[in-house]
Amino acid sequence: MMHTHFKNRKRTDSDYDVLIVGAGFSGLYLLHRLRGSGFKVRIVDRASDVGGTWFWNRYPGARCDVESMQYAYSFSPELEQEWVWSEKYATQPEILRYARHVAERFDLRRDIEFDTTVESAVFDESNHQWRIETSEGRTISANFCVMATGCLSTTNTPHFEGLDSFKGTIYHTGNWPHETVDFSGEKVGVIGTGSSAIQAIPLIAKQAKHLYVFQRTPHYTVPAWNRRIESDPDTKTSGRRAYGYDADLTIEEIKADYAGLRGRARKMFNALAFIPNRKSALEVDDIERQNGYEGFWQRGGVVFLGAYTDIGTSLEANETAAEFVREKIRRTVNDPVVAEALVPTYTIGCKRLAVDTDYYETYNRSNVTLVDVGQSPIQKFTQQGVYALDQEFTLDSLIMATGFDAMTGTLLKIDIRGRSGLTLEDKWIDGPKGYLGLGIAGFPNMFMITGPGSPSVLTNMMQSIEQHVDWIVGCLEYLRNHNISTIEATESAEDDWAAHNDAVADNHMRNSCSSWYVGGNIEGKPRVFMPYVGGFPRYVEKCNEVADQNYLGFTLTT
Ligand code: NAP
Repeated sequence: MMHTHFKNRKRTDSDYDVLIVGAGFSGLYLLHRLRGSGFKVRIVDRASDVGGTWFWNRYPGARCDVESMQYAYSFSPELEQEWVWSEKYATQPEILRYARHVAERFDLRRDIEFDTTVESAVFDESNHQWRIETSEGRTISANFCVMATGCLSTTNTPHFEGLDSFKGTIYHTGNWPHETVDFSGEKVGVIGTGSSAIQAIPLIAKQAKHLYVFQRTPHYTVPAWNRRIESDPDTKTSGRRAYGYDADLTIEEIKADYAGLRGRARKMFNALAFIPNRKSALEVDDIERQNGYEGFWQRGGVVFLGAYTDIGTSLEANETAAEFVREKIRRTVNDPVVAEALVPTYTIGCKRLAVDTDYYETYNRSNVTLVDVGQSPIQKFTQQGVYALDQEFTLDSLIMATGFDAMTGTLLKIDIRGRSGLTLEDKWIDGPKGYLGLGIAGFPNMFMITGPGSPSVLTNMMQSIEQHVDWIVGCLEYLRNHNISTIEATESAEDDWAAHNDAVADNHMRNSCSSWYVGGNIEGKPRVFMPYVGGFPRYVEKCNEVADQNYLGFTLTT
């Protein structure tokens, strides 16, 4: 293919028009689109293969909590039609196979360098190029740098006294070994009870001799009711009705109008197609309300929060949903003391709602012990295990299910320097700031995909990724067509966007507790509500307006 380089008299030749950091779903699609538009593009990724988060998170039970038919690219109708998901919620190996299939199908690998970690990215004002240095000592130059680095890609291992002395094996859910791990006959400890732990615990409990779960804060979770969905080749029956979303469509029905499903999803707050209840939880009587919750519980999945319109906006309404789940926990867990320890008291949906298979049931097993460290933290580690509640728990293996330095951690690990040597670390000293989660004032020609300030993790990531990629590609084409050499968010646009972000997050229930959304899981991290909580449609409209007005809020220079 002929490459149409950016032509500008100020430029010296760079290695690439665009250097993309990350070969997850963002980077792969961006490479495909930019190559199709004639740009010279390269991806680098620290992993040895494509897949991003699905490359690293290989713990037992890892699967997506967005239904597989929606957690898939929409840019290629052929790809949509030919790929067959086997389960309602796809497992990590299946999603990774999908990412590999995409890489092969669109011949992406020839422009990806694996096992390549970016150490620094420095903007050179003399020639308007980014200079990227890798840990292997290479320097790559590019006119534009796109951080497709993911929202949950830097693991968090909290500091525990004596952890280094522990003689057992330590795992992290977010960086799991590629070999099968067998816990048979072992005493295993899990620290954390977020989404990752909630998926892993039921499976590890079935294998381990004994499982100790160290819980600081109980988490709300709703059932997945996962099941196989592909058509049965023997009976030639059509795909089983697998979708709680959108009126229980079969695979065949979805594929017959996939664009329709995507279109309906894009109109939704979280970019997921489903049919929410249009009533307030407070306008119906107790019986109707319970029935409403039960119906969504039986559908399964994160759309439980759509059971009534005001679960996210009214504390009183939220409490009715929270209490419904608390009652489910009390009825599922046999030991009332354990049940009460598993019951969260904060607003539901504040921490990301988890989706599980047999999570609460697992606490009825005789080989599972819940160690409630909510009131008195884990004391220390020893060679044999962990001290908590003044007791020693001897362990063969320890699993950190302690999450991620979300949204900013990966970007801040790279030494990023913009105009006049401004470091991203200094720029973000009080929390991340940027325009639309896409660009950052002081950092020309750099884009983020699903960066802080965009709806990202509050939506179906596939939709948000495609929307950002499409916007960036449109922008780069515009710049090329108009012979523009730099684009940079203005500080005033950034300030206005931050003020709008804060305003919508201010009274939102997602901002009513400590979570990784606000950096609350990382010591010393400034408390800022990082994703945009104004909804996907409103956000997309704003992005489109900006593009339609020749990138209003950005400074363009020739
Ligand atoms: P997480 O939600 O941040 O959970 C981390 C857990 O570790 C929390 O229970 C936390 O307790 C605990 N923890 C942290 N530091 C601790 C300490 N010093 N002592 C004791 N406990 C400690 O992380 P995650 O489970 O990996 O999930 C992160 C996100 O990834 C999810 O919210 C979701 O967006 C995504 N994810 C999605 C899926 C899916 O699609 N199904 C699966 C896994 C993950 P506190 O609550 O007290 O901080």
